[in-house]
Amino acid sequence: MIKKAEFVISNSDPGKCPNPDRAEIAFIGRSNVGKSSLINALTGKKDLAKTSQKPGKTQLINHFMINDRWYMVDLPGYGFAKVNVKVKQGWENMIQTYLLKRENLCGVFVLIDSRLEPQKIDLEFLLWCGTEGVPAAIVFTKSDKQSKSKTALNVHKFLKKMEEIFEEAPDYFVTSAETGQGSEELLNFIDDLVKE
Ligand code: GDP
Repeated sequence: MIKKAEFVISNSDPGKCPNPDRAEIAFIGRSNVGKSSLINALTGKKDLAKTSQKPGKTQLINHFMINDRWYMVDLPGYGFAKVNVKVKQGWENMIQTYLLKRENLCGVFVLIDSRLEPQKIDLEFLLWCGTEGVPAAIVFTKSDKQSKSKTALNVHKFLKKMEEIFEEAPDYFVTSAETGQGSEELLNFIDDLVKE
């Protein structure tokens, strides 16, 4: 249960993140996947994620302090179509450095739009996490946007693809920021991660 959520700091340099003196989990996903909406829904704060997402500030690592006890991190979205290679590489370096070096990181939640067929960029990112030993779980978003059966079908297709890559598919959650579906389950899972 999240009782308190406060914005702490935004960074472009992973080395300048807050002291790694408490447990931390992070959210990442393609832009428009519903990351801000999910963070706001989970924390019960309408504008928490937006605070740090003013124009020109979106490509930053954003730290939030939760319940005065652990950090929730909003990582920049990946997969922008129209961006030059240098800018893209800069973001990738930042995200990769953060994910590989952040010693207090207990889990990364990779958001996947439940309306879409499995996307190459998401599969590649999850594969990279697996290869590098970054502890990733999947959060399917926007489940309210289509019928339950359509969501179930897309989730099934994605997990099947994952099983082709990994022996075991990662933990996953089916969520909606609109209806709150999956929030409790996801928060319980996060609670266990940050407890250890
Ligand atoms: P971000 O770029 O990943 O932070 O995505 P946003 O949270 O800004 O969401 C992108 C768009 O999808 C916005 O128009 C949201 O209102 C919408 N959206 C996000 N999550 C949901 C959801 O669970 N259900 C519905 N119906 N719309 C959503």
